[in-house]
Amino acid sequence: MAPIELPTAVDVQLVKNLSSSLNDYDALVLVATDLNEITPYLDVAVTKHLQSFREVNSSFHDDITVSVHENVPGKRLVFSPTGPVNRDYDDVRRYSDATLAGVKKAIGIGAKAPLVASFGSTRYRQANLVTLLAALEATYVPLQVREEVPDRKTKVNKLGFFTGQASPDNEYDQRLIDYARAVEFGRAVGRDIGGADPERMAPPRVAEYVQELFGKSSGIKVNVIKDKKEFEKNYPLFAAVNRAASVVDRHHGRLIFLEYVGEGEINTTALFVGKGITFDTGGLDIKAGGHMAGMSYDKCGAANVTGFFKVLSELKPKQFKAIGVLAVARNNCGEEGYTGDEVITSRGGVRVRIGNTDAEGRMVMADPLCYIKELAVKEVNPHLFTMATLTGHVIRAYGSNYTAALDNGPARSAEISQKLQAAGDEVGDPFEISTVRREDYAFIADESETADVLQCNNLPSSGTSRGHQFPAAFLARVSGLDKHGLDSAQPLRYTHLDIAGSGGELPQSPTARPIPALCQMFIADRVLH
Ligand SMILES: [Zn+2]
Repeated sequence: MAPIELPTAVDVQLVKNLSSSLNDYDALVLVATDLNEITPYLDVAVTKHLQSFREVNSSFHDDITVSVHENVPGKRLVFSPTGPVNRDYDDVRRYSDATLAGVKKAIGIGAKAPLVASFGSTRYRQANLVTLLAALEATYVPLQVREEVPDRKTKVNKLGFFTGQASPDNEYDQRLIDYARAVEFGRAVGRDIGGADPERMAPPRVAEYVQELFGKSSGIKVNVIKDKKEFEKNYPLFAAVNRAASVVDRHHGRLIFLEYVGEGEINTTALFVGKGITFDTGGLDIKAGGHMAGMSYDKCGAANVTGFFKVLSELKPKQFKAIGVLAVARNNCGEEGYTGDEVITSRGGVRVRIGNTDAEGRMVMADPLCYIKELAVKEVNPHLFTMATLTGHVIRAYGSNYTAALDNGPARSAEISQKLQAAGDEVGDPFEISTVRREDYAFIADESETADVLQCNNLPSSGTSRGHQFPAAFLARVSGLDKHGLDSAQPLRYTHLDIAGSGGELPQSPTARPIPALCQMFIADRVLH
């Protein structure tokens, strides 16, 4: 088998003076809201040149300007305006959009070493970080291009980064660059696993990639389970989904366990389960009518959990511990396929009646969630998360750019979703907060004697009231986390993240969201200050 082309984060150099690095780079990308604000940093002739453009172009501050000038690196000058940033509905994504467009334009016209200039913002504290992250994002090359088309393995050789904003200390900008590169490293892993096709990232090959990624000095412990008997015994709901695919070796599922333990006395533990459906046919409730294409992205939850661990492995934050379970399986149609009406008892002893085989995501996650719940009661300050491209309903409710966060009682009283939303708003990785209600628990109660819980109804989630909320009730109930509510002796904070909208879709690469928000919430303060 050909070697795995693991991702690399492109080299980023801090540039102190915009006029002094003519020979080190081959394009200048200016990301700014208003030309007047940045002229103090620019060469006088370049300023005049841009001003002359502005005179004849009334859309100068709305559209990208590409020009030629002797006094900029490679003579390539790209002015990429953010547009308005201060209206009620503007947010820091104006900076990422402008940077992404500007750097892509520079690459498109032949630059291999763009110098990106960011000027910060008084309103958006992390505008520089957001700009850096977007510049790095523009350099990503998908795994299957890196592996199959060697001469397109890299888009750029390096990036330069200039900031016009005063830094808290002399070393801060370098720390910010190191941090952004680590986050991008993690996102590249998320895009690699999430975006590769269903054969390249079939379950055994996801395991192979993760094991290769987290080698000896990574600081991440990896354990892979593939034994069918062990699935049936300890993860029976996962085993049911895996049944149809398990008859083909190269599609047989994997449970992948990750662990990171930072130096020093641990003060926070984050525990994740990621949905890793390498392809979702719907199962025997097959996705008909053209709804199956694109379903290789149904593994983005597991992909992004892996990406978060990659960031941990790069930055090694102290006093922080993380545990992850990647539930990696293919939801196939076949003679072994699980069916509606089956009653399966979960790891937590809850009898689940299958309603629809296309609701496989909650099935593969519920038992691993039960497992990390068992671990969490012994950990320091634990936060549990499920991350999944779970429902079409979340896209219907919030559109395709927002992660829905749903807290259980203890997480709600600790304002976990609010904190995540605030962290995400800083770095352009926004969330909407949804609430799990009594109707959601009522909806999943099975009315027969033979089962406790009904896994799903038989309408698409987008046609079902509270279609992205009730699956969170299912996960809490079936994993036994409902026994760790505010009224219990051992409350556990649990937040479900539905990334069906925010995770991205073909033909674009996955977004690897919400890795930036999670890093901002759990890692940034430990390494940046
Ligand atoms: Zn499905």
